[in-house]
Amino acid sequence: MDLGIKNKNVLVTASSKGIGKSIAEQFAAEGCNIAICSRTKQDLINTTLEIKKKYGTEVIWCLCDLSKARDIENTFDIVSSNLGNIDILVNNCGGPSAGYFQELDDEKWQNAFEQVMLSVVRFNNLVIPGMMAREWGRIINITSISVKQPIDNLILSNSLRTGVVGYAKSLSNEIAKYSITVNNIAPGYTLTNRLYELAVVRAKISGRSHEEILSDMGKEIPMNRLARPEEIASLAIYLASMQAAYLTGNTIHVDGGLVKGLY
Ligand code: NAD
Repeated sequence: MDLGIKNKNVLVTASSKGIGKSIAEQFAAEGCNIAICSRTKQDLINTTLEIKKKYGTEVIWCLCDLSKARDIENTFDIVSSNLGNIDILVNNCGGPSAGYFQELDDEKWQNAFEQVMLSVVRFNNLVIPGMMAREWGRIINITSISVKQPIDNLILSNSLRTGVVGYAKSLSNEIAKYSITVNNIAPGYTLTNRLYELAVVRAKISGRSHEEILSDMGKEIPMNRLARPEEIASLAIYLASMQAAYLTGNTIHVDGGLVKGLY
């Protein structure tokens, strides 16, 4: 099926590894021009080379700490001058620290707010005016199933990602008339470094091994396994497609059936 996004310019943030990397790869496979960013230069170079070799598309990388306004402005400037207008923006980010409420001081809350929520607002503020002028655009935010069903020991994620969902819904109403859609993907447990690290933290708390923790996570899921990053990425590609032009303001969970509620 032709998704109608060949040659579109795509920026995927926090994309040297994990879900972000997989999304960048799948857009490259559709013939899009790709920009990736994260804080780690060597990972960015490796991912850039890997995607270019596999798909032969344009890939540029930028060093960017998503919690810093200046890095975000710099990334936007580099992508705009090297690729041109950004047509599709995927706002991914590193997960905020784990912890219960008594372990988190103002500084940790502020850092998590900058990284999880303000980074989305800042990138959108830079990118959306161009989309409005061209009357086409796609904004896709990667959140978590924590916005449907809060996860134990992740109060920062549970709180701030819900903020992203409320913001995205308001934004989608404001800019739908410019043919710009705004949607959120809420991944379930997906086998990446992030999940591995969470399993290590939980293993320390519980005195069990991280292998057992990962295996138990799989058993909680009706599909009886963790997600693969590319299973999250394929929804991002669909949401960016011409076929999804009438789909906006939604949060879709890709979780193997983990969320037990109806909505
Ligand atoms: P990951 O740790 O595998 O990859 C995260 C990427 O973000 C890496 O490229 C890293 O370099 C980059 N990054 C981290 N902090 C950054 C910062 N401050 N500035 C710029 N780049 C930064 O993580 P993942 O599993 O791919 O998760 C991606 C997102 O999806 C996270 O927000 C995570 O919380 C969320 N999520 C993951 C799962 C899961 O099970 N893996 C489930 C639900 C939600």
